[in-house]
Parts: sequence; C-alpha cells; structure tokens
Amino acid sequence: MLSKEVYTLACAGLKKLALNQACRDAFDKNSLFFKLFEHAAHRYIVASDAQALSGKLQALAAKGYQLGVEYVGEENHDPGVVQDFVNEYLSAIKTFARAGLKPQLGFDLSAVGLLVSQETAYHNAATILSAAAEHDIPVMISMEHSSAVDKILEVYAELAPAHHNVGITVQAHLHRTVEDLPRIISYGRKVRLVKGVYNEVPDIALPRGEALDKRYLSLLDDLLAANVAVSCATQDPNLIRRLFDGGYQLRIEELEMLHGVQPDVLRSAKEAGLTCRIAAVYGDSWYLHFLHRLAESPDNVLQALADFYDPSRITFGAGY
Ligand SMILES: Cc1cc2nc3c(=O)[nH]c(=O)nc-3n(C[C@H](O)[C@H](O)[C@H](O)COP(=O)(O)OP(=O)(O)OC[C@H]3O[C@@H](n4cnc5c(N)ncnc54)[C@H](O)[C@@H]3O)c2cc1C
Repeated sequence: MLSKEVYTLACAGLKKLALNQACRDAFDKNSLFFKLFEHAAHRYIVASDAQALSGKLQALAAKGYQLGVEYVGEENHDPGVVQDFVNEYLSAIKTFARAGLKPQLGFDLSAVGLLVSQETAYHNAATILSAAAEHDIPVMISMEHSSAVDKILEVYAELAPAHHNVGITVQAHLHRTVEDLPRIISYGRKVRLVKGVYNEVPDIALPRGEALDKRYLSLLDDLLAANVAVSCATQDPNLIRRLFDGGYQLRIEELEMLHGVQPDVLRSAKEAGLTCRIAAVYGDSWYLHFLHRLAESPDNVLQALADFYDPSRITFGAGY
C-alpha cells in the first residue's frame, strides 16, 4: 500500500508530464506512443471525429443523460492551427444539428486564439457562440492555469453580455475566485464549478482537502443565492454525497462528469433524481486530457496499463 504522500506526488508528476512539450510531441498521431496508448485513452476519448461521436452521443442521450462535447486541442500559438480548431467546432455544430443533438460545447480560450491575442480569442469564441446559438446549443468556456485567468475573464466580460448561450467555468481552488465571483455572477450566465486541475503554488490555490471542499460549497452557496444556473462538475464521490446531504441536488442545474470516469457514480446520482451531464471528449490530440485523467486518480495508471494489455475491457457506454 503506497502512502498518501506518494499518491499526491504521483498526481503532481502526471500533471507535470501533461504539460511537458517534448512528451506532447512524442504523442503525435503517427508516433509509437500514440499507437501504444490509443486504446487506453479511448476509455476517456469517445471518438476521433464529430460524425462518429454523434452516434455515441445518441446512445448516451437515450440513457437519459444531458451531453457535453469538447474537441481536444492544445494551446495553439499558430493562427492556422487556431483556425482549424474553430472550423472543427463550426462543422461539428452542423453535424450535431443534423443529428438532432444539442450538446453543450466546451473549449479553452487558449485553443481558439488567446495565445495569439485576446482579440483573436474574442472573435473566434463569438463566431462559435453565434453559430451554436442558431441551433440552440449552449457553450461553456473552460478555465485554465492561474496565469491565464485575467485574460480569460477579460474576454468573457466581452462575450457574456452579448451571448445568452455562454457560460464559464470557475475553479474553487484558486484563492482569487472568491473575489472574481461577484463580477462573474453579475452577468447572470451559467457557471460550472470545478475544484481546478492545474498544479498551483499555495499562494495561489488550496490543495485538495477539507478546506477546498468547504470553499467549493461556500462558492456554490453564493452562486445559488444569486439565482445563477450552476453545474457542479466533480467526480469526487465524497463531495457528491455532501451535495445530496445538503439538499443541493434540488437547487443545482446538474452534476457533470467527464466521459469514462466512474460511470457508476454518475448513474447512481441520476437514479437518485439529479440531472446528470456526461462531458464527452473527441479528437486525436488526447495526450493532455488522458494524462489529466490519470493524474486525478493515480490508480488510473494501472487501469490504463490493463486497458493497454486488453483493449476489450473497454465497452462504450458500459456502466452508464
Ligand atoms: C465536466 C468537467 C469539466 C472540467 N473543466 C475544468 C476546467 O475548465 N478547468 C479546470 O481547471 N478543471 C476542470 N475540470 C477538472 C476539475 O477541476 C478537477 O480537476 C477534476 O474534476 C477532479 O476533481 P474532483 O472534484 O472530481 O475530485 P478530486 O478532488 O480530484 O478527487 C477526489 C476523489 O474523486 C475520485 N476521482 C476524481 N477524478 C477521478 C478519476 N478521473 N478517476 C477515478 N476517480 C476519480 C477519486 O476517488 C479521488 O480520490 C473539469 C472537470 C469536469 C468533470
């Protein structure tokens, strides 16, 4: 049995690997690493393209779940790559609309041009939002590393008043979120509350533990008091139990979990009457997403090795 300290360090190590550019490059689509771990990654990555994803989304919708969709991309510095990413969303919106689907779309502003300029990110996000609105499709902006939060909130401040279908993710672990929240609430748009996935220093964020869970619930209280639609995006069975114990299941809009992570936990919440959303991820640049899922629970590394050995262990939709 490994100590809690080893688990914590393993988690930080996996997040460090997730951000390592040389490792990301080594997982290029034509690489040996990509081919070796592709099957294991498909526990979390639903499909390579939007067309294949549509059929799978329909199967999850038939089981009574709300749907979310994110195309996996990297932080994009190259304007051409940014444009390809935006085009993928514009094309996926049409694919989903043709299939009668209205999944909540999600993306990082870094993937739509924040690393080129704030104006580029604003312009591209607004283009996706307008196209999605034509089909009554909502969009959720992700929250990134603390170093990007100012810029993300500035772009969001421009997007939120004009786009009724936009929402934003906030990270409970960042100390600054307590001060940022009133401004975010003032837009009246949907908020997705997460603990936060990035490695941050103690001056900037709380580590996992009771203080963070308490802050999560306190931020949730503030959001609900302001009548904001809230998605609780957590995969933590203990926190989910506290949501039920505190009667929050009657007041939040939904519980949201990433596809492939503890389907039985989400199914139990659905059976207990909570609206549940499965956030499905697709695309080939899955390295970062895969590593983050392993980091969330280092036992998942063993699970991935078992999946590598025997890909037939993964059956789409099983457990939901
Ligand atoms: C829909 C969705 C959207 C998100 N968007 C963002 C975002 O925009 N920005 C951001 O910073 N973060 C985002 N996250 C990630 C989030 O911040 C957390 O890092 C992630 O959800 C893990 O935290 P937790 O609350 O689920 O549980 P943790 O506190 O990390 O873990 C508590 C326990 O939950 C269980 N658990 C958690 N994850 C897993 C897993 N993968 N496999 C098995 N067991 C697990 C384990 O038992 C673990 O010990 C998102 C998460 C979800 C579900």
